[in-house]
Amino acid sequence: MINKFIKKTISKITHHTNGYFTLSIDNDGLTYETGQFARLGLLNKENKLIAKPYSYASNPNNDAEFYIVEVTGGAISPQLKALKVGDTVYVDKTANGQLYPENIKSSINAWFFVTGTGVGVPISLCSNPEFLNKYKEVFIVHNVKCTDDLHHNEILANHKKVNYIPFISQGDPDNYNAGRFTDNFKELMSKYEGNQELTALKSQVIIIGNPSMLKETVEFFKTEAFSFRGEDKNIYVERYW
Ligand SMILES: Cc1cc2nc3c(=O)[nH]c(=O)nc-3n(C[C@H](O)[C@H](O)[C@H](O)COP(=O)(O)OP(=O)(O)OC[C@H]3O[C@@H](n4cnc5c(N)ncnc54)[C@H](O)[C@@H]3O)c2cc1C
Repeated sequence: MINKFIKKTISKITHHTNGYFTLSIDNDGLTYETGQFARLGLLNKENKLIAKPYSYASNPNNDAEFYIVEVTGGAISPQLKALKVGDTVYVDKTANGQLYPENIKSSINAWFFVTGTGVGVPISLCSNPEFLNKYKEVFIVHNVKCTDDLHHNEILANHKKVNYIPFISQGDPDNYNAGRFTDNFKELMSKYEGNQELTALKSQVIIIGNPSMLKETVEFFKTEAFSFRGEDKNIYVERYW
């Protein structure tokens, strides 16, 4: 298996909170498209490679970036968190995943519904004009636990046609939407009009993150005449576990 990987060196690691960090490595020898993912691997004590998939949050022309959350007691994420600049990580030479620009249909707008580190996928895609040129407007609806988990507002603010809508599920966030976006689909559908309208006629819906959110979101949009399969497909998903 190890010959599918390239040995890379950590060039930067940024700890945003105690459990949420960004790993950066140079892009030399890495092949991927915006929106894809690669396995990151580390050697364990028996010299066996343990690897799990992580979404690229970057553009292939720049350093590769991965947004990672530590799963307490997890097999690999605590070890990734403990890495230092100069340490080795193994990365899939060839990336995987279907959420690259060519594979997502053009339409009036695109709406992302993402939880946690799933925001890396739209950030990667929105760094690519090939993706942005397919839509008049792009929305990123992002659920996180608390305001400390919001780190990417500035990156998204650089894009004129990208609208970032965070939802904070815990505490009482002053300037943000409180709760879960899954409880607010109807409100979102009635709030936006024209080129921003969230409807099966005008939108592609791209859902990334945890399994229960994925299920709830797909079920809702199916009742609103969106399609998960076939020629009219306008729902795309990526499940993290
Ligand atoms: C296509 C794909 C892309 C992914 N991209 C990312 C990414 O960009 N960033 C990232 O942090 N993880 C991502 N993951 C999840 C990642 O691959 C690992 O599953 C995760 O880091 C846990 O690995 P572990 O060995 O530490 O924990 P394990 O021992 O494998 O524990 C797994 C359990 O941890 C929980 N879990 C897994 N992933 C997450 C998560 N992201 N947030 C909260 N809880 C989680 C679930 O309860 C899961 O059952 C992705 C997974 C897939 C399939």
